[in-house]
Amino acid sequence: MPHPTPGGHPNGTGTHPAHGLSGPGRPPMDFDRAPFLVIWETTQACDLACRHCRASAQPCRHPDELSTEEAKSMLERIREFGPVIFVFSGGDAFKRLDIVELTRYGAGLGLRMAITPATTPLATREMLQALKDAGMSRLAVSLDGSNPGIHDEFRRVQGSFDHGLRILREAQEVGLTTQVNTVVRKNNLEDMDAMCQLMTELGIVFWEVFFLVPMGRARPEDVASAQGFEEVFHRLYDLSKTATFDIKATAAPQYARVVTQRKAQEAADAGERPDADVLTQGAHHSLKDGIGRARNVNDGDGFMFISHLGDIYPSGFLPVRTGNIRTDDLVEVYRHHEVFTALRDRGNLKGKCSVCNYRPRCGGSRARAYAVTGDYLEAEPYCAYVPPRWAQLVEQGRVPDDAAYFAQRQRAVTELPLL
Ligand code: SF4
Repeated sequence: MPHPTPGGHPNGTGTHPAHGLSGPGRPPMDFDRAPFLVIWETTQACDLACRHCRASAQPCRHPDELSTEEAKSMLERIREFGPVIFVFSGGDAFKRLDIVELTRYGAGLGLRMAITPATTPLATREMLQALKDAGMSRLAVSLDGSNPGIHDEFRRVQGSFDHGLRILREAQEVGLTTQVNTVVRKNNLEDMDAMCQLMTELGIVFWEVFFLVPMGRARPEDVASAQGFEEVFHRLYDLSKTATFDIKATAAPQYARVVTQRKAQEAADAGERPDADVLTQGAHHSLKDGIGRARNVNDGDGFMFISHLGDIYPSGFLPVRTGNIRTDDLVEVYRHHEVFTALRDRGNLKGKCSVCNYRPRCGGSRARAYAVTGDYLEAEPYCAYVPPRWAQLVEQGRVPDDAAYFAQRQRAVTELPLL
C-alpha cells in the first residue's frame, strides 16, 4: 500500500501533523487551504429517532432549510477547495426532493459525491439508481449492531436493520460503492466481534467506526470508557490486517496512536524499522470510487460541516458556530476563522495532549473535549494513554492525574450557557 507522504515521526513533537491522501500518486493535501471532506446536513427531517442523534432529528423539514439554489451556490464555493469529498448527511437526505438534482450538479462541478441516507423505505432501488446515474460515488448506511435486535433498539424503529442490509445490496447492484457506519457505545462493546464478522460479509469498501461524542441525544453515560475505546482500537487494527475494506475511526484520532504503537511493536519484534504511516491495511479498497481517505483529519482540520440552515461548524459534533453560508464565504471561514485556525494548530492543545508524543498524528477528539469540558482545545477525556512527559509531571505533583484533571474540568461545563 503506497503512501506518498508519511505522517510525522511517532515520537515527533511538532505541532502540526503531516497531512495527505492515501493512494498512488496523490499529492499531500494542505488542510490549512482545503478540507478533505465537507458534510452538509441536508435536513433534520428523519423518520428515525436514534438514541445518539447529533441533529436531534425531527419528523418534518425546517421551513428555513437551504433552498435548492442556495445549495447549488454552496457547492460552487466548495469547488473552490478543489475536488473534495462532499457528503449529503441528515436527518435523512431523502426527505429532500432535490437530492438527485444536487448530486448531478455537484458531480458536474467535479466534487466527489457521497450520501448517508437513513435506513428507511425512502431509500428505494429507483432512488439509488437515480443517484448513481446522477454521479453519486458512494453510499454509506448505518449499522449499529450485528443483528436487528441491537440495531433497531438503538435506532428506535423496527425494520431499520433489514432496510440497511437491503439498501447496501441494492446500492451495490446499481453500481455504487458502499460503506457502513457504526456507532461504538457502552452497550454494544460486546457485540464488536460479531460486528467485525458481519462487515466481512457485506461487500463494502469502507467501515467507518464512530466513537460516541456526548452531545445531541447522546448522554455521557452512553459513552464507553477510555479502556473500552482502547479494546475496540486493537480489535479494529487486528481486523484491518485481513479485511477486504478500509477501516476508519471517527471522533477517535487515538486510533492512529494505537496503530503507530502496534506497528512499532511488530517491527521491533521482527527486528525491522517501523512503518511510519498511520493508515492501516486496506486503504486501497476505498480508492475504488476515487474517494480514498486522508490521514490526520480532525474537527476543523481537513473537515467542515454545514447545517441544514447553512451554519458553518468545524464538525457536526463540535457545535461552535463560525458563520453562515448566507452571509459568510465558507472558503474564507474555513481558511481564516479563528476557531478553524486554532483547531489546526496542535500547539494550542492543553493537558496531556499538549505534551503527547503522538500529538502530530492524533491530537485527540476536539469535539469530545468540547462536549466534556466546554473547551475544544482541552485534552481528549477518553484516551487511556498517559504520555511519558505527563506521567513525569503527575509524579512531580505539578499536574493532577487524569481522574482529578477531568473531574475539575467537567464541573466547568455545567457553568456554560446553553448553545
Ligand atoms: S494524550 Fe491526546 S494526543 Fe496523546 S494519544 Fe491521547 S488523545 Fe492523542
